[in-house]
Amino acid sequence: MTGRVVLVGAGPGDPELLTVRAARALRCCDVVLLDDLVDRRVLRWCRPGVRVVDVGKRGGRRSTSQRAIESLLVRLARRGHVVGRLKGGDPFVFGRGGEEWRRLRAAGVRVDAVSGLTAGIAVPAALGIPVTHRGLARGVTLVTGRTCDGGDVDWSALVRGGTTLVVYMGMHRLAAIVAALRAAGMPPATPAAAVQWGTRPDERSVVTTLDRLAAAVAARGLGSPGIVIVGAVVGLAAAAAAARAQSGTRATASYTAPVGRSRLR
Ligand code: SAH
Repeated sequence: MTGRVVLVGAGPGDPELLTVRAARALRCCDVVLLDDLVDRRVLRWCRPGVRVVDVGKRGGRRSTSQRAIESLLVRLARRGHVVGRLKGGDPFVFGRGGEEWRRLRAAGVRVDAVSGLTAGIAVPAALGIPVTHRGLARGVTLVTGRTCDGGDVDWSALVRGGTTLVVYMGMHRLAAIVAALRAAGMPPATPAAAVQWGTRPDERSVVTTLDRLAAAVAARGLGSPGIVIVGAVVGLAAAAAAARAQSGTRATASYTAPVGRSRLR
């Protein structure tokens, strides 16, 4: 059997937000490399006895460098393993999946990708925020708050664009990002939200306005990993939250019953 690698998106957190194809792909793997943002409960879809390599860095452990991860993927595939590379969200959205894909292709290793629900869309959705709600947003921009070259995002171009903004990896620079948006002319009353550990049991969020966002996040002690959502569509979250409170339901409903494990072989 020839080895290969499959880059698998695990979705934003809740293990139920893994796609059916991702679950099937995991079932085929004999080794799985796990990122720090992936909930280990998704390993329930793997074969018994699968080898799991934790390459994440949370919890005080050191992370494996990107280069070392890529070399390990190549080595394992060349030894004939079917390797699953599990990443939070979607592998190709701020997930370094593209780098791994290129490196594997260059090494002559077969690589496939299974898309996952990206945090920037699925986390707002779970709060009742439709990121491109008709009449409120002409589009959505997924943007990083931290660039690899230290350069800054062109925030004023984004404000001019008028789309909903979803900022990944921006929690530690929140005050500076808000200041940049304000300086670019975004009104202080623009609805804004921040969500940490979205779709997980420990999810925490604040829904407020741009001028109050940084203080609200600090007061609640929200941090990384979190996303920031800015734009009129965030205003819809307040109504959704009120409806949830009234019915006593969680933000993310659970639908385990219809999808029996035996059907996902
Ligand atoms: N590939 C991932 C993103 C990886 S970058 C995806 O498609 O979702 C890591 C950043 O993603 C975090 O810093 C945070 O900004 C965001 N993120 C990932 N999971 C999240 C979650 N459950 N809640 C909030 N933000 C999350």
